[in-house]
Amino acid sequence: MLPAGVSHFTPTLALHVFDAPEPGPTALVQAGIHGDEIAGVHALAELLEEGIRPSHGRLIVVPVMNPPAYRARERTRVGGLDLNRCFPGDATAPEPERRLARMFMDLVLSERPALVVTLHESRKRYDPAVTPSFGQTIVYGVENRPPIVDRTIAALNARFTDGAEQFVPLYYPVATSSTEVIVGAVDCVGLCIETWSGFAEARRIEMQRATVEILLDDIGVRRAPRG
Ligand SMILES: [Zn+2]
Repeated sequence: MLPAGVSHFTPTLALHVFDAPEPGPTALVQAGIHGDEIAGVHALAELLEEGIRPSHGRLIVVPVMNPPAYRARERTRVGGLDLNRCFPGDATAPEPERRLARMFMDLVLSERPALVVTLHESRKRYDPAVTPSFGQTIVYGVENRPPIVDRTIAALNARFTDGAEQFVPLYYPVATSSTEVIVGAVDCVGLCIETWSGFAEARRIEMQRATVEILLDDIGVRRAPRG
């Protein structure tokens, strides 16, 4: 298990670990696995700057999963692999993405999170007739949709009421993605949050923030004290 505080997988890849005063589940939230999908990266940076803390259990925040890709504002590092297709990874591989994927797998196996959330963005507006198209969806890869998906979408759609901003659930398993491999390994709830990159950046950041906060409240890592 990681100690509370800030750890690093590489000098620019930080993991922020917060332990709550009360016992509870662990939630792992990550962004920037694709470097051109920036809203989630900035959403997590804002939440960290504002001092987000768990009330129960443990919260692990990884704001930038793929720093070289993020700096390039590209899906991958220049000349690199798609990190989200490298799971479960390989500690001895020559490619840094495969080694990094293995480090994350080992982290997940050690931390046993109840919830793993990956923040993505999509250039394509969701259209049931177009596969793949993801903006705005909560993507899951197990056949029985986790109930937290519908609750989160209901809360999001009550807040983002414009028709184009509404979220829908989407079943779209990808065998080698971080989410599916992690869910298969530790039997957690694994979700990808996809905002549509056609919206203004500030609005997308707001949506990603709201999604993270709703999910943490729902899973019980961030719970209001009982009055
Ligand atoms: Zn992505």
